[in-house]
Amino acid sequence: MPRVVPRQLPSRRFDPRSLAVCTAVALASLSAGCSGDSSDGAAGSRTTASDPTSAASGPTTKATSGEPASPTSSPEPSEPPPSDPPTSSGPAMHPDVPGAAALQAGESHPVEDPYYPETSNPEVDVLHYFLNLAYQEEVLSGTATVTFRATKPTSRIRLDLSDALEIEKVTLDDARVSFGHKDNGLTMTTPKMKPGRTHTFVIKYSGRPAPVPAPSKREDMTAGLGWRTESDGSVYTIQEPYGAFTWYPVNDHPSDEALYDARITTSSPDVGVFNGVLEDKQVRGGLTTTRWHVDEPMASYVTTLAIGPYEQYSGPTKSGLTITYWLMKRDQRLITPLRSEGTDAFDWLVEHAGPYPFSSLGVVVVGGEGTMETQTMITLDRGAARLQAFGASTLQHEMAHQWYGDSVTPTNWRGMWLNEGWATYLQQRYSAETQPKAPSDNPGPKVPGAQLTLRQVDNHARAESGPPGDYKPDHFADINVYIGPALMLREIRKQVGERKFDQLVKAWPAQHENENVDRAEFTRWVNQFTGQDLTPLIDRWLDSRHTPHRH
Ligand SMILES: [Zn+2]
Repeated sequence: MPRVVPRQLPSRRFDPRSLAVCTAVALASLSAGCSGDSSDGAAGSRTTASDPTSAASGPTTKATSGEPASPTSSPEPSEPPPSDPPTSSGPAMHPDVPGAAALQAGESHPVEDPYYPETSNPEVDVLHYFLNLAYQEEVLSGTATVTFRATKPTSRIRLDLSDALEIEKVTLDDARVSFGHKDNGLTMTTPKMKPGRTHTFVIKYSGRPAPVPAPSKREDMTAGLGWRTESDGSVYTIQEPYGAFTWYPVNDHPSDEALYDARITTSSPDVGVFNGVLEDKQVRGGLTTTRWHVDEPMASYVTTLAIGPYEQYSGPTKSGLTITYWLMKRDQRLITPLRSEGTDAFDWLVEHAGPYPFSSLGVVVVGGEGTMETQTMITLDRGAARLQAFGASTLQHEMAHQWYGDSVTPTNWRGMWLNEGWATYLQQRYSAETQPKAPSDNPGPKVPGAQLTLRQVDNHARAESGPPGDYKPDHFADINVYIGPALMLREIRKQVGERKFDQLVKAWPAQHENENVDRAEFTRWVNQFTGQDLTPLIDRWLDSRHTPHRH
């Protein structure tokens, strides 16, 4: 998720004039001028428009509609996540469910969330979702094939599903089961299930999906979580921290990652866009059906679904991956700056964060307000996409999350700082190195002590929303989990030296690929990797009610 913009900061006991530099900078997201820490190396050369390999200099070429994303990089084969002994298969699997060996990649160790325990269920570990969705005249009709294992002996399984949707039928391993549906929960009564056995629910449902309130004070979250329908009829979805349950039955928690396939049918010319790779597109009888495959585990908060008159474009990168872009006709002129920035940001991240952890990457531009690091298909709202032309680095921030957040995922929502600290730190470095002269980065004369301004923002955010390591649950994704943790990473860099820290930046995602992590693991690993006891530094930055002093 992009950082919150400073206009949302209340001004009580806080001088907004001190934010003059940061206000415009926020649009370019924490530039060098505002972050002001010269030790972070603003010396890099600008490589954007003048780069001969940049797609921006070439003509806009539209990919064949429906053509799957072509040549992808070859990421290192990923280590399978820690798993229990091999899952023993239950009854014959549904034809849309991968085989037992493939399903193992979807195994997780779900936990109850300390912040939002009312959603999700640690007694179920979903391995795979197949979402067969049809959307016409504002009605969603879905069949969700949910393959899972129970984590303890039980004869009741609850999944999250919005009360706005009606259930038509539920089967467990092809036999009908009874169910109850209330308080945004679908509870199935089942024969006694043993832990570790694989079973499949097929859930048929339909209705007019609606968003649910977000536990946040952010202006871009006032539209709510989950399904959003725009006035032009297009649809997009924003799930973080929970909201997937507004459009499909789900164990809506980051600790239960799963594999996904999806088939989306809409009235032409609308096209359904999902995460992963487009495997097939059929236009027949006034309907367009797309089929999507996600080949690595994914948390529900980084799923995405967008429906509209989308056309597909593509842009190369130096590292060999071709990024796909999904834009509506009305947004066509954004493709050139987007493709240019996408290429630059991706190649910069591969250099600084290490090999890209997934096999595909796309960007879908949506209406409304909502930008999110959705896994392998970044959701970028139209406003954010426009700002890319003026040097904003929002797309780079969301790309950074593919390593820090999507591949390495917090165990629970207490760990939001792990996502935003890393993405903000890398966004600051990127802006400093590649866009020192972008017009929106330096709207006025530089002021002495700009670093203090950023610290002041952090200090205020801590007072308002709590320390980053223990924020107020109804202040989700406030700026307190962005700036302070990014400053903490800079402090660690100073402490351990630039060379060691640059190694650490790459080693963290490489050594935790497809894992869930928390503060204890971060602290243990950083101490081990650096050979220093950084626990007091980390504690100070995550727990203090005021911005800690620098060393
Ligand atoms: Zn973010």
